[in-house]
Parts: sequence; structure tokens; C-alpha cells
Amino acid sequence: MDQRTFHLLAKPTGATCNLDCSYCFFLSKEQLYPGSRFRMDDAVLEAWVRQLLEAHPDGDVVLAWQGGEPTLMGLPHFEKAVSLAESGRRPGQRVLYTIQTNATRLDDDWARFFHDNAFLVGVSLDGPRELHDRHRLTKGGSGSFDQVRAGWDHLQRHGVQTNILCTVHNDNAAHALPIYRFFRDDLGARHLQFIPVVERVTDDQAARAAEGWGSTAGAPRPLYTQAGHRAAPRSVSGPAWGRFLIAVFDEWLRHDVGSVFVQAFDVALAARFGRHELCIHAPTCGDAPALEHNGDLYSCDHYVEPGHRLGNILDTPLADLVAGPAQRAFGRAKQDSLPGQCRRCDVLAYCQGGCPKDRFATTSDGEPGLNHLCEGYLAFFRHIDPWLAFMAGELGAGRAPAGAMAEAARHDARLAAAVAATSRNGPCPCGSGRKVKHCHGRR
Ligand code: SF4
Ligand code: SF4
Repeated sequence: MDQRTFHLLAKPTGATCNLDCSYCFFLSKEQLYPGSRFRMDDAVLEAWVRQLLEAHPDGDVVLAWQGGEPTLMGLPHFEKAVSLAESGRRPGQRVLYTIQTNATRLDDDWARFFHDNAFLVGVSLDGPRELHDRHRLTKGGSGSFDQVRAGWDHLQRHGVQTNILCTVHNDNAAHALPIYRFFRDDLGARHLQFIPVVERVTDDQAARAAEGWGSTAGAPRPLYTQAGHRAAPRSVSGPAWGRFLIAVFDEWLRHDVGSVFVQAFDVALAARFGRHELCIHAPTCGDAPALEHNGDLYSCDHYVEPGHRLGNILDTPLADLVAGPAQRAFGRAKQDSLPGQCRRCDVLAYCQGGCPKDRFATTSDGEPGLNHLCEGYLAFFRHIDPWLAFMAGELGAGRAPAGAMAEAARHDARLAAAVAATSRNGPCPCGSGRKVKHCHGRR
């Protein structure tokens, strides 16, 4: 077996969560383990930490928790994990800790612990109250914004490293700027991650999916798997996803390069240097397995389903499962299944066809396997390419990419002058193809 670097997401409470978000199809994964308490026991915890350290003898090791809601395990579980990792690591081996949480259960004790152990804490938040509370609901069906905000404030008071994870769905996609500015200005967030909600469903599931996946909906939840060729109504469309990212990019480009870090932009800039920092836009996948509470390992957090169970780490070492033939085939399939439209695409180097779970659309010439978000990816990557080229040039010359803000200001001044010199019914100088009065000359 070859030795691989991989990034494992542990789900110590499986899919169980104290919230009941209407777009969260992960909630149904409880059906994989009927009768389970959904709590990772010490045997699995010890095996996970030890095997992860052994699998990365010469580099950094990341202990990463996700859910469900991992804080339901209680603080002692995490204290034990850190203690195991610190006592088990080799000299010079560095262990990094990261957790994704809905933040509703965080208090001073949690925040102090995260700070003292240099955790990076990802907080799930969908924007200001009215947008967040649209889908992120408590078990009682009310909005969770106030609880999340309280958790966020605990983290800030203790100086914890944070990252906001905002899902973009049909109900907040048109509000890119209020969302971005809320995170930046009201919360003081400096690291942001935007994730498109794409709920893929079969024809049979469509009516049930439309009700939302939360437990307050009527019919029983089916086990969600990555199947079907329809997107449930909460899903963001390709064009809306593109508009959202472009709006955030344009704001960021003019004000925040070097002071706010948006994962999608960092990943795209790294791709210009041949580095693939996010599996979604890497040529292959397979290096981001998910560990269930009982030690079962799955190909990916998005493929926690029977056909993608690799084995159990109490029976087979983690590194062997990750390097084994099933997982390698899973990883290669991403590239092997790329439709011709992607192979010929001018933004392939950035996009790589996106995540296989979202590839249920059809290309313009009828080939299956195109990403549901293709139109958005195409618009976004074409829009940012010249700016990333500028930033890459700055980096190549030993300067900071923040110089792009001054370049954007010069660009805006030139465009404003050209617009002023064009009649209102003339073509907009920005190249959009629209008339000036419907584009940059709009009053
Ligand atoms: S299936 Fe998607 S989320 Fe999973 S590893 Fe591949 S690209 Fe990443
Ligand atoms: S933008 Fe569309 S066609 Fe181009 S690589 Fe991405 S998914 Fe494929």
C-alpha cells in the first residue's frame, strides 16, 4: 500500500443533531444504524487518533470533527482526543484541530478549550437572522439565530480562530452582499466559506423532499443517497450560484483582499499555481473519507451510504482502507466520468467539473454527468480569471495580491469614463452585451 496524505472527517455523533434544518438530508443517515446511541466510544476514538498519527508520520495531522453536531459528545470527549493526540504524536509531528459546529451549545468552557488548544472552529451560519432562520431551525421549529450568535460571541471573546460556513440555497442566494457584509461588518469574521445547497433527489422522493427533511415534516424520511436527476426546491440553481459568488468577489476585490479570506477565491488562486486545495475542484477525489461513530469508514462525507462503506477501522487500518482499491476507484471516477463538455471547457483548470454528487445534469449535446452548477461555475471562473491572473502576477513579482484593489479602482474609473462617453442605448463598454441603460448606466 502506498502512503497517502488524507483529510479525514470524524462524525462522533453520526448524523444526530440538536437542530432540524429543513435542507439537511444528513439527518436521515441515522437509518444506517438502527438502535444506535450514536456516540463514538473510547475504542474507536483511540484507534482513530493512533491510526491517523501513524498514517502521517512526517507531516501535520489534522483531527477534524463534523456532524451531525459533534459537540453533543460533550467536552470530555474532545479533551480526551487532544490528550491522546498530544501524548501519541512523534517529536516534531504537529497536530491541528478543527471542528464544524452549529455553535448553539457553545459556552465559555467550550470557547476556552478551543482557544487553549488552537482549534479552528467552523460555525454554520446562513446570514443575518431573517435569512439564517429560513431553514436553520430548532427541533421545535423556531429559528436558531440567537443561539448561534451567542455561541459566536463566546468564541470571539476568547479569541478562538473561526471560519464561517454559509450554505447558499434558493432563499438566500439573491442576498450575497447583505450576507457578506453582515459577516464582515457585524460579526467581524475574517474567514468565510460558501457552500451551495444541492439536494439531489429521485422522482419518487421529490414530493417528500419538497416538504423539507426536518422531523416536523409529515411522511417518514427516506434514507438519502446521491441518486436521482432532480434538485429539490431549496437547492441553489447554477446561475444563482454564479451570481452569488460574483457579487461577493466584486465586493471583496474592491475592499477586502488580504484582510478577508474567502475559501472559493483562495482555492481558485491556488489552482493557478497547480495546487488543488479543495476536493470539489481537484481533478480526483478520494482523500477526504468520513469516519462514523462506530469506526465505519466511508468514501466521503457526502457518500455515507451503504455502497461506499470501505470497512471499519477496528478491523482494518485506516491507511489501508484509504489506499485500497475501492477508495482509489472512487477517487479516479471523478476524472474518468468527466463529460466531453468539461474536458473542452476553458475553465477546467479551476473547476474540474465540480463534485461528483452534483453531476446529474446533461450537457448541451446530451451527455449525462454535467454538474448541476455548471452555468454558475462557468460564469464565476470566467469573471474572476483576469483578476486572479493579476494577483498571480503580483505574487510572482514578490508583491501582495492586495494590489488588485488599486487595479480594480483604476479599472472602475476607466469604465465609468467609457460609460459616460456612450449613449444610453449604446452597448455597455463593460462587454456584457446589454445596453448602457440596462447595465452600468442604469439609474
Ligand atoms: S465526492 Fe465531492 S465532496 Fe466528496 S471527496 Fe469528491 S469532490 Fe470532495
Ligand atoms: S464550468 Fe461546467 S463545463 Fe466547465 S468544467 Fe465546470 S462543470 Fe464542466
